[in-house]
Amino acid sequence: MLISRVPGFFKLSVEERLSLITNKWNFNEEEKKLLLGLTPFPIKIADSMIENTVGLMPIPLGIATNFKINGEDRFIPMATEEPSVVAAASNAAKMAYEKGGFFTSLSGSIMRGQIQVLDIADPYSAMARIYEKKAEILKRCNAKDPTLVSLGGGAIDIEVNVIKTSNQSMLILHLLVDTRDAMGANAVNTMAEAVAPFIETITSGRVALRIISNLADRRIARARAVFSAKQLGGIEVVKNIVNAFEFAEFDPYRAVTHNKGIMNGISAVVLATGNDTRAVEAGAHAYASISGQYRSLTKWEINEDGDLAGSIEIPMAVGIVGGATKSHPVARLALKILGIHTAEELAESIATVGLAQNLAAMRALATEGIQKGHMALHARNLAMMAGANENEIDQIVQQAVKEQDVRYDRILELTKQLQKGVVNGK
Ligand code: NAD
Repeated sequence: MLISRVPGFFKLSVEERLSLITNKWNFNEEEKKLLLGLTPFPIKIADSMIENTVGLMPIPLGIATNFKINGEDRFIPMATEEPSVVAAASNAAKMAYEKGGFFTSLSGSIMRGQIQVLDIADPYSAMARIYEKKAEILKRCNAKDPTLVSLGGGAIDIEVNVIKTSNQSMLILHLLVDTRDAMGANAVNTMAEAVAPFIETITSGRVALRIISNLADRRIARARAVFSAKQLGGIEVVKNIVNAFEFAEFDPYRAVTHNKGIMNGISAVVLATGNDTRAVEAGAHAYASISGQYRSLTKWEINEDGDLAGSIEIPMAVGIVGGATKSHPVARLALKILGIHTAEELAESIATVGLAQNLAAMRALATEGIQKGHMALHARNLAMMAGANENEIDQIVQQAVKEQDVRYDRILELTKQLQKGVVNGK
């Protein structure tokens, strides 16, 4: 059985951590080498993924520990350049672990494709005519993706709206497509383009745009967890966390940073698994404003035991097939590390990371402030910026943290002193 609680994981060497994670899934030497960067990522794959490729941009891949999701322990792969994110997620997950971990659900795997129809004389009658032809529309869409249909997915329904702008009425047809284990943008766009001429015939209008909507409101991932007041540092900390949440819930300036913290975790897993970070981010922020005001994606309350209960609700259009999920060799390994077998499990796991990340950030903000935990990593970045070499960085970081003074000018001074041999009297 996999146990994700690994005390002291951060103290191990990179190779020891990797062995610990990959032994469970029988990674072969090639796969380990690929993760460690010892086998270079094939430039041919990179060149087939985007245009005008000239090289690679490596991003660290870390593992968040301590996640228990629906009773099963999981290691969470996170690709991010930002210090503290992986540690914060692991730390919050550890607190949730004590209370049974995270519990999740997904509302479905349905995406919307939009078809914009212009120049219709009678848009409301055209809307009615479209609904009369629903079966034929769905049939034409599904003919474009027999694989998806054979897997139990495909176009399942339509919705039609008339939008009145300042100078015209336009008809917007939504194709509702169950994309199963795929994120679904290509699948949905293909269907929207294929059915467009038929929509023109029905409406006598002119189809313009045919494209997926990233507001994936029929693919909502939910996660919840309880964090004990004792572990958090007492009831005052719990109350301060709830106050921090309420600040975000009612103030968009705060909410955007609060949600950015959530996305620190979410985007890192989305990226690690080869999914589309922009699609998930756009959907998340639109969903945060769905009430008409931009709000928190999470909710925090004090439960009847006096502990902190958190929940998150977020659109999560991610897949385990399609896009880069299978073509990127490291993304394939990230999915293996997660040990999931469906896009549903992936979406739900990602939501738990968002919740954990949010708790960690709010707890830091509500107690010692965010900078303390960041100090050493921040100092490390500044030391690199100041030109310290690998052998000098640790000493400079130690000194800056000891002085509680992590500023670029001081780090630069320390670097210069060290290079002249005078830090700590040396
Ligand atoms: P895709 O077309 O590569 O793969 C999906 C196809 O895989 C399905 O249509 C189906 O035929 C097949 N398939 C095989 N096994 C499946 C299974 N178990 N479940 C579902 N389908 C299965 O990829 P996609 O998911 O349609 O599109 C994702 C890509 O589209 C991403 O790379 C994304 O960046 C890109 N994209 C996004 C947008 C946007 O979000 N606005 C727009 C254009 C493209």
